Amino acid sequence: VSTWSSVPQGPPDAILGVTEAFKRDADPKKMNLGVGAYRDDNGKPYVLEAVKKAEAILLEQNLDKEYAGITGVPDFTKAAAKLAYGDESPVLSNLAITQSISGTGALNIGANFFSTFYPHAKNIYVPNPTWGNHNAIFSRAGLKVEKYGYFDKSTNGLNINAMLEDIKNAPKNSIVLLHACAHNPTGVDPTQEQWNEIAQVVKDQGHFPFFDMAYQGFASGDCTKDAYALRKFVADGHQVVLSQSFAKNMGLYGERAGSFSIVCADADEKSRVESQLKILIRPMYSNPPIHGARLVNTVLNTPELKQLWLDEVKTMAERIISMRTKLRNHLEADFGSKKNWEHVTNQIGMFCYSGMTPEQVDKIKDDWHVYLTRDGRISMAGVSSGNVKYLAEAIHNVTK
Ligand code: PLP
Repeated sequence: VSTWSSVPQGPPDAILGVTEAFKRDADPKKMNLGVGAYRDDNGKPYVLEAVKKAEAILLEQNLDKEYAGITGVPDFTKAAAKLAYGDESPVLSNLAITQSISGTGALNIGANFFSTFYPHAKNIYVPNPTWGNHNAIFSRAGLKVEKYGYFDKSTNGLNINAMLEDIKNAPKNSIVLLHACAHNPTGVDPTQEQWNEIAQVVKDQGHFPFFDMAYQGFASGDCTKDAYALRKFVADGHQVVLSQSFAKNMGLYGERAGSFSIVCADADEKSRVESQLKILIRPMYSNPPIHGARLVNTVLNTPELKQLWLDEVKTMAERIISMRTKLRNHLEADFGSKKNWEHVTNQIGMFCYSGMTPEQVDKIKDDWHVYLTRDGRISMAGVSSGNVKYLAEAIHNVTK
């Protein structure tokens, strides 16, 4: 009998399972609105021009493939930190930072660092709902995952009162996970004024803000605007940590380029913290992959490429925003839906939390060959000029 005969079958991943079902469907009109990866208006994956140009430069340089250090490519982490915190941010000089296996790897490093060194009760509060992987990552690292109110089903918008109230009522010194922008899965972000209030409540309670920034630039099209929350917390004197990903905003999904950083009080603390990050990473994967980091570094440190990239981020964000407008217009004007679809255009970033029920999600799959997760989340990146009207017709039919 095999050693593994009692290993039980686990459930498929909620998001990747949608793609599997989509692939099995032979209908030509089928749509995959499950996975959160950008598509161009022809529904094709998009490699950014800035990235292609950076790749050509790297090829030209004929670099070797030696190991990076444990914390990665230093020019990459410097540039990444500037992009997130701001070129002139005073925290840059005492920032402990390491390259990571994209955003997921950054969250894992963070989770493990808190699990080992956080000097208070190890509770982390995450929004309800949040990206499914947050629960898995934090609980595997031994943190206790709790929820704070976030989404209001009656408005398909933010429930700011529940959010502030729950954060206020959490035990002092709790860790609070915040999506820096383009909240996944809801597409609902606090306004700048609301962020200011959140920063105050977090401070009053002595909580610790843990930022997850997977979509900088993708929400509004403007990387500075999308960094508002992070920079506001820093300006208010919060010691933050940050998980950063270049998967979406540079289209580097499979290259796994990201960073994890910790704002430290002084140079000595930074040195101690970085030494522990290295001790944590070394047995996990020794050192990170270099190619994605070199691409990001080349884009961010070559002025023409940086400008080109900023323009491309804006183009991607604007395409998604225009699909939101079209989807809503088709629903209201062409199909005469009497439901309120304001949230389709109010929400931001990659996803639209449509408000569809699990039964409606099943029906839109069976009757219309439209695939999305059962929480009703639509990846807007999968919508294009060619299929937005069809999608509106499908949604109208299953929700009327
Ligand atoms: N955090 C959030 C909220 C996300 O939505 C994602 C990706 O979907 C990630 C982190 C991490 O993505 P990656 O590991 O590909 O950078």
